[in-house]
Amino acid sequence: MAKRDYYEVLGVSRSASYEEIKKAYRKLAFKYHPDRNPDDPQAEALFKEAAEAYEVLRDPEKRARYDQFGHEGVSDNGFQGFHSAEDIFSTFSDIFSEFFGFGSSQSGPRPRSGADLRYNLTISFREAAKGTEVDLNIPKRETCDRCQGTGAEPGHRVETCAHCQGSGQVYRSQGFFRVSMPCPVCHGQGTIISHPCSKCRGRGIVNVKKKIKVRVPAGVDNGSRLRLRGEGEPGEHGGPPGDLYVVIYVQEDDVFKRHGQDLITQVEISFVQAALGAKVEVPTLDEPVPMEIPKGTQSGKIFKLKGLGLPYLGSTQHGDLLVEVIVKTPTRLTKKQVELLREFERLEQEKVGSKVKSFFKKVIGDTDN
Ligand SMILES: [Zn+2]
Ligand SMILES: [Zn+2]
Repeated sequence: MAKRDYYEVLGVSRSASYEEIKKAYRKLAFKYHPDRNPDDPQAEALFKEAAEAYEVLRDPEKRARYDQFGHEGVSDNGFQGFHSAEDIFSTFSDIFSEFFGFGSSQSGPRPRSGADLRYNLTISFREAAKGTEVDLNIPKRETCDRCQGTGAEPGHRVETCAHCQGSGQVYRSQGFFRVSMPCPVCHGQGTIISHPCSKCRGRGIVNVKKKIKVRVPAGVDNGSRLRLRGEGEPGEHGGPPGDLYVVIYVQEDDVFKRHGQDLITQVEISFVQAALGAKVEVPTLDEPVPMEIPKGTQSGKIFKLKGLGLPYLGSTQHGDLLVEVIVKTPTRLTKKQVELLREFERLEQEKVGSKVKSFFKKVIGDTDN
């Protein structure tokens, strides 16, 4: 089969710069990499072909010879192409280390941050309003204090796995292919613990119930989240711990409803109090306070008591207390009360009647004149 043109193989123009050529090759090397295309002879051929093209075009001298004489110009000078993937990896280790980590100096697993934890905390309406302190017992994983998380019994060392040289990965060549897999000796850890810690059995992590005091600030609302830095799961291989998020659920209250930082409550008064005015007691988050109801107050009227609502978080300001007045209609009356109400009604009609009379008098008087 005739060899394809190297520029065509990499998909670049004949005037492409070194950077363009490198970029084009990286793309193809990634696409046809044996780890990504196991047991695919076509990918293998394309992987080899691209490597060969790159090998020639990245070198200004070889490229010039190729431009002038074609494939003959480079094969005459000793370059025969690649025989195995290992050849390609070692020749272009700079490219492969960039995206596969091959040949890089890093060994062993990377540090990883611990996971965040979430704890649902239910508190009463008053606790939310006033703020509270709660002791939580959080089930969590912690770095083992016996081995400091190394997993080795004190006095014994964690050894680097000799089989994989600490990388946790081994590469198996299958003909042309190179396949990576977790090291069977250390199970991908990169280390061997011959004397595991007796407390954590070599895991480096223990399950504990941790007691944490949480200060819930006054004025928190349903769904408020408190973040406790570093109280989440421990990190792995030296990574930082995660955070603990306490999510607040506030129970309903019999007396108060909440509207932002305002409180809403209801006060019942009799229709006589509504008509004549009265002084009533209104519940607040602390002691009840007196409130003046003016005469002639209608049911449903809302009075505002300034500053008796909930505190704004991180502020000395408070919302207001909104008092809705409900006029109660009496359901059981004594004979005397009924008599008085009848009398009241008669007087009302007389009052209305006289108004109507005077109205008609006025109207009739007007037409008379
Ligand atoms: Zn331990
Ligand atoms: Zn190993």
